[in-house]
Amino acid sequence: MDHHLSLVLSNPHSPLVSYAMLPGDHWDMEDAEVEKDNPAIFLCEIAGNRSILRPAYQIKDLDGKDLHFAVYTTGRGITRVSQSLDDYHPADQSWVNLPVGTTICIENIHQHYFMDGQQGIRLDSDNDTLNSAKILKCTMQQFLELNETLRKNGSTCSSASCTSEEKLEKLLRCAVCKTPYCSKSCQSSHWKLEHKKQCRIIAYLRYLNRQYGR
Ligand SMILES: [Zn+2]
Ligand SMILES: [Zn+2]
Repeated sequence: MDHHLSLVLSNPHSPLVSYAMLPGDHWDMEDAEVEKDNPAIFLCEIAGNRSILRPAYQIKDLDGKDLHFAVYTTGRGITRVSQSLDDYHPADQSWVNLPVGTTICIENIHQHYFMDGQQGIRLDSDNDTLNSAKILKCTMQQFLELNETLRKNGSTCSSASCTSEEKLEKLLRCAVCKTPYCSKSCQSSHWKLEHKKQCRIIAYLRYLNRQYGR
């Protein structure tokens, strides 16, 4: 099953899953206990905006399946995330008008059948789910590519234009995502080039690895 994606430490049971792998709609506490041993993080990408009164989107999952995603939280689609869970995401997330190509990761979610017969994901004011729901400003493809980059990440400077090839004993690291650099100048040129857009995504991948990596 190639849809199980390896995380940084090549976990053979990566928790990133498609819709088909999620628990069903009738999810009771007994199932919830099972999920703790076998966590599932739903990964999808925004494919179209269907918002009318509340945020709603067409999404595609890892299998390329078209699904419906609706946000039924209080606060008109702005959710407050507890900061204690991690240190890399802003306390507030807006689910309003997310652009096509935005990636979403949600832990503790299950399949949902909407009243009109559509299948998909319903995000509501359940704190465990809300706290784990992440909006990532990249496509799923970019997310998976960054994951691969992280897997190769060694003990050399991360700036592509860096001329220092030696393995460094004392690396500077990005305070948020721990990406290594040989110097402040490499860090700042890499920040301007691409790291600004990638930093929080890498930090999230590191969080996934800490939580679920083996
Ligand atoms: Zn360097
Ligand atoms: Zn960083």
